[in-house]
Amino acid sequence: MSDHAPKETTPEPEDSTAERKMQFLFTLRSRGVTDARTLTAMEKVDRGPFVRGHFAGHAYDDTPLPISCGQTISQPSVVGLMTQALKVEPRDKVLEIGTGSGYQAAILSYLARRVYTVDRHPRLVSEAAEIFRKLDLTNITALAADGSFGLPDQAPFDRILVTAAAEDPPGPLLAQLKMGGIMVLPVGQSDAVQSLIRVTKTETGFDYDELSPVRFVPLLEGLERDE
Ligand code: SAH
Repeated sequence: MSDHAPKETTPEPEDSTAERKMQFLFTLRSRGVTDARTLTAMEKVDRGPFVRGHFAGHAYDDTPLPISCGQTISQPSVVGLMTQALKVEPRDKVLEIGTGSGYQAAILSYLARRVYTVDRHPRLVSEAAEIFRKLDLTNITALAADGSFGLPDQAPFDRILVTAAAEDPPGPLLAQLKMGGIMVLPVGQSDAVQSLIRVTKTETGFDYDELSPVRFVPLLEGLERDE
């Protein structure tokens, strides 16, 4: 091989980005994320800006990663499975509990009319809000709050997504769902494998579907005071 050969075959950065994206979407599909709208939204939202520090090189791996405040950005395939289970409609008002990095909220912002996202860590909320501003995702409102109580001022919601595990679906969240509304959340003990469930509010009560085993950080009480 001549000295010049490797240079000539080095892919343009655009090609490697396209290839990485294709691989990312292929992995999502192979892990059960098949809903076309979900895949399109996940193609649009680059996970890179939501992964900071020395884990940035792993942004396109299908793995959870550490973020500030000892929290984690979820595994992309789990984000995809939760998003498709939520069956978001274009006119929906959605509440997410557990902003974390903001990645999940950014995906929801492409699928819904309005997204409210809350986290008990004010610092995570302000970091995520800054990314939403930079990406011009103007239909997301990020607030520091204890999400166990929902967001009474903006209720009711068409869809609620909880990205931290509670032992049972919190009562205030069930109350803040519209009739026909859907909530997806992990339930179970925080130190064990939890179940992802979907709750649908009906005229006669709630329907429950068990979806898959997952593992999330626990839903904790109260606001954190991180500077
Ligand atoms: N959806 C996030 C990942 C969430 S990690 C993403 O896309 O990156 C779970 C988050 O839930 C953490 O940031 C944690 O601070 C938050 N959390 C835990 N208990 C909470 C509560 N009661 N109210 C609001 N947020 C809570």
